[in-house]
Amino acid sequence: MPDQTVPTMRPAFAPWLSRSNDVTSVFLAAGQVPGLVNLAGGLPEPSVWPVAELAGLAAEAIRSHPDETLGYGPIPGLPALRDLIAARFSTDALRLSRENVLITTGGMQALELMGKVLLQPGGLVAAQSPAYLGALDAWMPHAPRYRPMRIEGNDFDPHAALAGAQFAYTVPNFSNPSGRLVALPERQALVAAAHATGTWLIEDDPYGALYYEGEPLPRLLELSAGARPGPYDGPVVYMGSLSKELAPGLRVGWVIAAPEMIAALATAKQGSDMCSSGLSQMLALRALQAGITDRIRPEVLAIYRARRDALCAAMQAHLAGDLDWQVPVGGMFVWATARDPRLDTDRLLHHAMAEGVCISPSSVFDPEGLDRRSLRLNFTLNPPERLEEGCRRLARAIRAALAE
Ligand code: PMP
Repeated sequence: MPDQTVPTMRPAFAPWLSRSNDVTSVFLAAGQVPGLVNLAGGLPEPSVWPVAELAGLAAEAIRSHPDETLGYGPIPGLPALRDLIAARFSTDALRLSRENVLITTGGMQALELMGKVLLQPGGLVAAQSPAYLGALDAWMPHAPRYRPMRIEGNDFDPHAALAGAQFAYTVPNFSNPSGRLVALPERQALVAAAHATGTWLIEDDPYGALYYEGEPLPRLLELSAGARPGPYDGPVVYMGSLSKELAPGLRVGWVIAAPEMIAALATAKQGSDMCSSGLSQMLALRALQAGITDRIRPEVLAIYRARRDALCAAMQAHLAGDLDWQVPVGGMFVWATARDPRLDTDRLLHHAMAEGVCISPSSVFDPEGLDRRSLRLNFTLNPPERLEEGCRRLARAIRAALAE
């Protein structure tokens, strides 16, 4: 008879369950609360998905390419899609070929594979602070140590930040969670430091198409191309995704990097999922070839820009006395910091839920879970009147939290 009283598996769960703390269980509950204004997630507006067109492309792709769509495919991705991504991201100075591209199952898989390939147990990651929660989750099994990089600060020294790290992690366009855009001088300095220290530099860029003002800044990838045109062999590991530009359910992302890095990541991918969905890749290929992302982009940008403005106007009306924030020039998030140091945003989440609004507290974006002063608000999922209602509720929740 097996001994059923001793839960011998439990120690193995410990690192996993320790991240599913109080805050995560509130998030999970949030989906079930009727009438809740959810400002916590990072979801796109579903009405922009070109449903009928994608359905037509999917049916046609399965009929005309049953092997590619329904069979196993090459580990690094459909050759035609790799070629298309290489061509899209090439510039005069940056020569990319298929060998520079790996197709991944969403941008998330790219993050996970980087951990598998590069992280030794307890290794050091230099991560833009505050950090993307999904990246922290992806690397958690390797128990890395984190060196926070406050790239916007006057005293930021990229050379010191990168030295000794197994890799550095940045989201230069409208970081999740801070919404910040890394300025050109800092981009150049990061790239120079990556070259000087020989450190891999991740440029995670799911929001790069979501600029609401101004011209897009050059990617770190472009800045790291050598002076002499040749096949790309630099230190930047660029990660892109169709999740925000087209639809997250396709789970199509890509890595652009030196061929050696691509080959290592492809081997790691084989042990993860063998290959990304052929149907999704074929849909992505057809959609990009047909210019669907370029066509829907103006509408997506118009909706998101209006929602950003609506959220910031509502914050100004209801939260200006309690929070400080900067209006983001792109992306999906506003990051706000409490003026009163007594306001603990983990505690605030509970009051917010009681008022019918959900927010993301800063602790989940801190590897140590210690930052309790800030919160992230998403503006892409809700229409303007719901954003305003969410701010009204949040203002009441802040009053309640401060009265505790
Ligand atoms: N990186 C960042 C910074 C993100 O915000 C996200 C999505 N929330 C991802 C990567 C992964 O996105 P996906 O897997 O949907 O491509």
